[in-house]
Formats: sequence, structure tokens, C-alpha cells
Amino acid sequence: MVDLRSDTISMPTREMLETILKAKLGDDGRTDTRGRGEDLAVNELEDLAAEITGMESAVLFPSGTQGNTSAILAYCKPGQKVMVDEMQHIYLSEKVVFDPSVGQLEPVTYKLDQDNLPDLEDMRRIMESQDIGLLCIENTHNFSGGTCVPLARMKAIRELADEYGIPIHMDGARMFNAVVALGVDAREMCRCVDSVMFCISKGLGAPVGSLVCCSEEFSRKVRDKRKLLGGAMRQAGVIAAPGIYALRHNIERLAEDHENAAYAAQQLKDLKNTRVYGSVMSNIIVLDANGLGLTPEEYCRKAAEKGLLIKPVLKDKVRLVFYKDISREDTEKAVAIIRELDS
Ligand SMILES: *Cc1c(COP(=O)(O)O)cnc(C)c1O
Repeated sequence: MVDLRSDTISMPTREMLETILKAKLGDDGRTDTRGRGEDLAVNELEDLAAEITGMESAVLFPSGTQGNTSAILAYCKPGQKVMVDEMQHIYLSEKVVFDPSVGQLEPVTYKLDQDNLPDLEDMRRIMESQDIGLLCIENTHNFSGGTCVPLARMKAIRELADEYGIPIHMDGARMFNAVVALGVDAREMCRCVDSVMFCISKGLGAPVGSLVCCSEEFSRKVRDKRKLLGGAMRQAGVIAAPGIYALRHNIERLAEDHENAAYAAQQLKDLKNTRVYGSVMSNIIVLDANGLGLTPEEYCRKAAEKGLLIKPVLKDKVRLVFYKDISREDTEKAVAIIRELDS
């Protein structure tokens, strides 16, 4: 089986797991006056994440969803309007902050342009006419096929939001895929936002965890929300230690996953009934296989019968995700199966 359902399937290596045995553990829920806990591995990971993103502080979370939720709730009061794009993970998949029994925020959707990048004109139209509490952007953008928002667009978004005094939260679950694909410094990208969430549990290959990076002052609010949502952990160094390993060893190698995705996209270009959606810029390919007259679920079932696991997304498409355990040989197998299904 070639499993391209998600980069969350990436498995920790022995070397990564061995870091757990050497980690200096403690109770991360027992905090000092600065809000820091007693688990030294957690503190080390949070310091490293802050350094890499150029932010003052970082807070470790068990999941990206809880990280996004805590950050967004720290900005907004119930009833406030939050800008999200029409295909954003926070809006379509997580939904927590918009749930009437939890976040009670109101989504206002902005358009993506023909390149699947945030549409500045549409954003301006909304900011001009409505009272907006927070702007959320996603980089890389998952459901559009791993689209990377380039630095120039990020800076333009920052300038626009500043005109209206609106803070920006970035869902950067796969931020390092964007950083590596675009060849930019993570710090420069993060300078365009007030807070960023990134996952260590996806392409970076750690088993569990996500970080929210932001100012020292804001991190206190984020920690309070984390506690409220039940995300304060105890000897969380067991997840922080592999996270430190992931940040030290697995960022640059994301380029290999991008090469495999680009190679597969190239090999799938000339198919009759299967189209690559958007442009493939990082480790994700979204396919439109509607030409075959199958539902995405049926298509995925047929692919599985031939040895390829993939996942339906967005009602009418399927998604392929490349990560460190997928070799070029696996990529070739996946391509062969999709070509076979097309004919
Ligand atoms: C995976 C993902 C998340 C949430 O991360 P979890 O750890 O699965 O909760 C948020 N945003 C995007 C774009 C993602 O792909």
C-alpha cells in the first residue's frame, strides 16, 4: 500500500523516539509567575519555536485545532466577526470558534483569487464595510492543494490589515512547507502576522503537537485559553522532545516531499478524465476526477483496491499528500495507479 491520505501518517524514527528517554521532564501544568511550567523539554521546544519564527513566545498544544482555537478566542469576544477564506481549514473543518456552543464567533468569508491566494480587493471591501475583530489566513493552504502564499502577498495583507487596525492569525499547520518551497526565512514570513500556529505532527514527522507563536503578552492569554480548553499537559516533554528533534532535523528535507509531489503532478498532466487542481507548490496534490463519473468516495475505494490510499476533500475532489516515508518509488506506484484509473 502507498498511503497518501495525509502527512499526519508520518511515523517517528527510532532516533526521534530516543530523545524522549533523555528528556528532562516535569509538570508543565505547574507554572511560575511568567506562566512557564516545570518541564524543561517543553520550555526548550517553546524557546526554539519562538526563535525560529522570530516571535517572543511559543505555547505547545496537543493539536493544531486547539492551538488555532485558543489563539482566536484570545483575540475575540463572542459575537465578533472573524475573516476566513471560503476554503479555510478553520472554517470548513475545525469550526470550533464558530460553533454556537463554543466560540460563538461569526465567520465572514473572503475570496481567493484565480491563483488561490487571498484576494486583497475582496478583503478590503469587507474591512471597509464591517466591524472585523480578526483576520485569519492559511499558509500553506490545505484544501486548495498546498498553495504557498508568497511573501509579497503576505506583506500586502499585513499593510491592509494595519490600515484597519485588524490583527492577523495565521494557520500555518504546514508553514514550514511554505517557507521551504518559497525559499524565505520563517521570521520574515511571521513578521507579517500577529500569531501563527504550526504543527510538528505533520510533515515534520513528530508524533504529536502544535505550537502557537506570538508576543509574550499575547502568549499569556493563549495559555489561559489552552487551560480553559483542557490543553494544559503534565510531562508533555514526551511530545516536546521529538518536536525539538523535528525542528532541528526535518525542516529542510520537506523539499524532497515537494519534489515528489511536483514529479507526480508532472506525470499526471496529460490525463483525460483526471485533472490536477490549481498549481502544485508544496507537498499536496488535489485531483478532480469527476470526469470518470465516480463520487470521490468511490474513486478512493477503487484506488485502494489497486494499492493507493487517498482521501476525498471538498465534496468533489481527492487529495494526495507526500511526506518523509513516501519514496520516489512509492510516488511512481501512485502515479501508475492514478493513470490506470483514468483509462
Ligand atoms: C491539520 C491542520 C490543522 C489542525 O491540526 P490538528 O493537529 O489536526 O488539529 C489546522 N489547519 C490546517 C490547515 C491543517 O491542515
